[in-house]
Amino acid sequence: MTAAEFIAAMTEPVPAPRGAVCVRCRTWTYAPVPVRHIERQSGPGVTLYACPTHAVDLWAGPTPGDELRAP
Ligand SMILES: [Zn+2]
Repeated sequence: MTAAEFIAAMTEPVPAPRGAVCVRCRTWTYAPVPVRHIERQSGPGVTLYACPTHAVDLWAGPTPGDELRAP
């Protein structure tokens, strides 16, 4: 590895960690399942995730992918 390659490797952005905290057991999961989406008056809504184990225990709620369309 040359000095230029080393510097290029050190300055690459670190990828963001994938996953989320489960709303039920509060542990980090690498396979989050969206179970709720809470709209807020200001700013973007909040999506709550669950681990695959607890996702089946929670009722399916609206997610960002769900959109109500007027007929
Ligand atoms: Zn969980």
